[in-house]
Amino acid sequence: MSLTEIDLHQQLKKYFGFSQFKGLQEEVITSIVKRNNSFVVMPTGGGKSLCYQLPALIEEGTAIVVSPLIALMKNQVDAIRSISEEHGVAHVLNSSLNKTEVRQVKADIENGICKLLYVAPESLTKEDHVEFLKHQKISFLAIDEAHCISEWGHDFRPEYRNLRSIIKRIGDNIPIIALTATATPKVQEDILKNLGIPDANTFKASFNRPNLYYEVRPKTKNVDADIIRFIKQNSGKSGIIYCLSRKKVEELAQTLQVNGINAVPYHAGLDAKKRSKHQDQFLMEDIDVVVATIAFGMGIDKPDVRFVIHHDIPKSIESYYQETGRAGRDGGEGHCLAFYSYKDIEKLEKFMSGKPVAEQEIGHALLQEVVAYAETSISRRKFILHYFGEEFDGETGEGASMDDNVRNPKKQHEAGEEVEL
Ligand code: ADP
Ligand code: MG
Repeated sequence: MSLTEIDLHQQLKKYFGFSQFKGLQEEVITSIVKRNNSFVVMPTGGGKSLCYQLPALIEEGTAIVVSPLIALMKNQVDAIRSISEEHGVAHVLNSSLNKTEVRQVKADIENGICKLLYVAPESLTKEDHVEFLKHQKISFLAIDEAHCISEWGHDFRPEYRNLRSIIKRIGDNIPIIALTATATPKVQEDILKNLGIPDANTFKASFNRPNLYYEVRPKTKNVDADIIRFIKQNSGKSGIIYCLSRKKVEELAQTLQVNGINAVPYHAGLDAKKRSKHQDQFLMEDIDVVVATIAFGMGIDKPDVRFVIHHDIPKSIESYYQETGRAGRDGGEGHCLAFYSYKDIEKLEKFMSGKPVAEQEIGHALLQEVVAYAETSISRRKFILHYFGEEFDGETGEGASMDDNVRNPKKQHEAGEEVEL
């Protein structure tokens, strides 16, 4: 059966049990099976994995999937293995494998059994792997979390920069598909340029989250009391509060507890056991509020988070979008409240001062956008979407009334009077 004759819906049902494609998935998959270079920009949770998993399963040969995190790869491989009868259909190739395991993986690729090969970029640069893959039938190459290639992204990884030359060595005509949840035009440009795929078919989903309400309040010395009041007004609801430092996380969690709020701290300084305990308590609704650093969130999929509060403003709009994006996943209410003081911006600038100049310049530019967001008097949703290169009609767009500036128009407010925290 030729690829064009394959009924994609039937395959979707067969492998994943879904009866409908989500968003642009079908268009993306069609582009891939037609062997076009493709570029997929969809928010987190949009269903990017399936865009390469389904074509990998139905095409001949092995699809190579580059992904930055070993834990993520393992999850994906387990998930794929559970939907397919065939042994060896998906493999991870990384430094954790012993020689026998590597031989098994390579045998499955040679036999055409292995449809998906997950690799970290540093494994792909290994000479003997490149030599081996060069002689195999590779269906296409997927680069997940492709923003890692850009210094303008929130997660730059230098190893991603070598991908283009390695791909060329594996095969000149292998279609490339890049996927990311980072929508800024600069990062997108970087991805296409660095991978050498300016001609890629681009598929971009909207980043609008109409059920999220955006609000910025001046941060004063009473910020903790403001937060307590907010939580009490929303009692029984689940929420996340982000702070910049571990110390502040601990302090605020304690303050909330003293005030009768069911809260726990979460940061990378806690031991693994405590972290997973706090995370589980939150997921199981044993506690209402997690006070956390940005260490909390990756892979947290609690659908009914009703508020995300930023005690400290984050270092980019990108981060703000990701962090607030954890609210209202179920489509229900999600209140995103940020406390802003220019003093915090100065603090963030100071943190950067030890870094290389190029990094400082990028960091500064990203921060200025945060300042502009916090101080704007236009629709915050319009501001965020514009930042992501998306037009938004502030009158009729979905969720247009869901922010403080639209509900209570005011002149640009001054940053709150701040004391040293
Ligand atoms: P992303 O990588 O874009 O953040 P994922 O690929 O992890 O998103 O998918 C998010 C969720 O959406 C997963 O739970 C996945 O099973 C689900 N999903 C993907 N495609 C579909 C579909 N066509 N129908 C229903 N659920 C889907
Ligand atoms: Mg993903």
